[in-house]
Amino acid sequence: MPEKTPSNDSAVDTTSDWVIYKRLLAYVIPFWMAFAISIIGFAVFSLASVGFAELMKHMVDAVNGANSDARLWIPIALIALFFIRGVGSFLGNYCLAYVSSHVVHDLRSDLFNKFLTLSSSFFDQSSSGHLVAKITFHVTQVTGAVTDAVKVLIREGIFVIGLLSYLFYVNWRLSLVILSIAPIIAWVVAYAGKRFRGISGRIQNSMGDVTQVSTEAVGGYREVRIFGGNEIEKSRFRRISNYTRQQSMKMEATIAVSSPLIQFVTAFAMAVLVWLALSPEMIGDMSPGAFVAFISAASMLPKPLKQLSDINAKLQRGLAAAVDIFAQLDERDENDTGEQTLEKTSGRIEIIDLNFGYNDEHTVLKGINLTIEAGQTIALVGKSGSGKSTLANLIPRFYEAQSGKILLDGVPIESFKLTDLRNQIALVSQQVTLFNDSVQNNIAYGALAGASIESVTEAAEAANALEFIQQLPNGFETMVGDDGVMLSGGQRQRMAIARSLLKNAPILILDEATSALDSESEKNIQQALERVMENRTTLVIAHRLSTIEKADKIVVMDQGEIIEAGTHTELLKKDGRYASLYRMQFSDQPLDAVDSDSDGLVSDKTADSGQQTPNQLD
Ligand code: ADP
Repeated sequence: MPEKTPSNDSAVDTTSDWVIYKRLLAYVIPFWMAFAISIIGFAVFSLASVGFAELMKHMVDAVNGANSDARLWIPIALIALFFIRGVGSFLGNYCLAYVSSHVVHDLRSDLFNKFLTLSSSFFDQSSSGHLVAKITFHVTQVTGAVTDAVKVLIREGIFVIGLLSYLFYVNWRLSLVILSIAPIIAWVVAYAGKRFRGISGRIQNSMGDVTQVSTEAVGGYREVRIFGGNEIEKSRFRRISNYTRQQSMKMEATIAVSSPLIQFVTAFAMAVLVWLALSPEMIGDMSPGAFVAFISAASMLPKPLKQLSDINAKLQRGLAAAVDIFAQLDERDENDTGEQTLEKTSGRIEIIDLNFGYNDEHTVLKGINLTIEAGQTIALVGKSGSGKSTLANLIPRFYEAQSGKILLDGVPIESFKLTDLRNQIALVSQQVTLFNDSVQNNIAYGALAGASIESVTEAAEAANALEFIQQLPNGFETMVGDDGVMLSGGQRQRMAIARSLLKNAPILILDEATSALDSESEKNIQQALERVMENRTTLVIAHRLSTIEKADKIVVMDQGEIIEAGTHTELLKKDGRYASLYRMQFSDQPLDAVDSDSDGLVSDKTADSGQQTPNQLD
């Protein structure tokens, strides 16, 4: 089924802030104790800072000779205040860092785990760069919000509240002047906040593009160089990177305008304040100490206010990233509603009236009916794009059919638990994926991890891989490098076959490699494939004649339909499409030339194998 388009582009502002806060808070709740200690720490820190204004009052009054003990207790109080403030600061920072590091870790893990359960269609529609950016970039944006923003919000917020309360306590009438500027500041902060959020969304997106273009250029460096893509890649990257730069500049410009603006408004209020405070009526009311304390407390206000407005940018960046992350976490998982467990299938597959399309517009498979008896080998042949891989992908439920059924041992495959179903299937594809790990761990991958070295060796031997593995510098312990760069195409293929042999699953799906292997590797692989196909149901997308001839049934596909099915002899006798293809194989044409013909039998996934190997011609 086609799924909703992933929310890569701009998921910004689709969710209300409150919902995002609540979800973020859910990540904080397990660490509520540390979070509470952190808040207390910052509160202590801020209140101790307000204490300085009060201390100032006593100092000025002491200068005026009001209190003779002051010479001793004021210095002691000063040290005590600093000590308390220091302890508060430590607790606040440490505990908050503890919470935020956990939140980042949990968010990252959740995202990563999500990637493991998303549907194939999701991956078809997403760019991997954007997905990776979510784990690397977006999550750190959320950290920014969780740590710095929360820190400033709590610390400076309490400081502002403390200062204001103190000002009211000293002189409430004057304090009203300060309070009158609050709406103006609030407006500036809110306006800037909205702008920050929009820009942040765009920055995140372009970071996804940056990752995408870089990974493509790095991963495909050979193509880039051979096909002269340097300039195109350069300009593509420059454009994207410059766009990111422009957006960051907009962000900085907004910060750069908003914070002096807030300071100016505050300074204006301060000026009015001093003007009023210096009026004879006011001065008459207050002691010199109280007056100095009031002015010092008031002059302490702009700094935390500025920090609070600056942090808005960071907070909005974090929230924009959180929106994206949560949208990702809400993506639909692969359908796994089947309840039935499956220990070991006999391997009988029945496909009934199957129709499938990757999207609603285009049907890829039409009315497929096919029965594969347990242990049989079925060869799927047909030209490229006729739907062979698609059909093979439906059996492990990488995609779900729009209509029709696939039965395994008479039971619809949706009824089985997904892991149980996939446990029954081994897969050897043309594009073998190897992990950056040792040869042994690559063969004994996933659920096979922990298989004994004896069984791994046995599998490698049966896959004709033992010989080359033993020649590697560290044998089975050799690291294969990023996606197995150290190994040749044929070696990778044999590793994949060894992996499948070790899995020993009742069903095998095989996308035969046709890449230009030398005849020696070809023979090695052919033998290994024959071994892995023994005693199991095999669905093979076949390119080699030897495989095709030996198959129990050959299914010829064209434009998503089965146009012929039968054994090699039956189909030859029938003298239809297959027969004409077969005859062409014995003409002098190389196999791939057949593919360019509309009646082509062999997929064009073949690289240029002009040479004909013995296997392909026998
Ligand atoms: P074959 O294996 O016979 O070469 P495929 O099954 O790969 O053919 O492709 C059948 C059709 O489905 C083609 O038209 C192809 O463009 C389309 N197709 C294949 N994979 C996808 C996908 N992931 N998303 C959308 N369309 C696809």
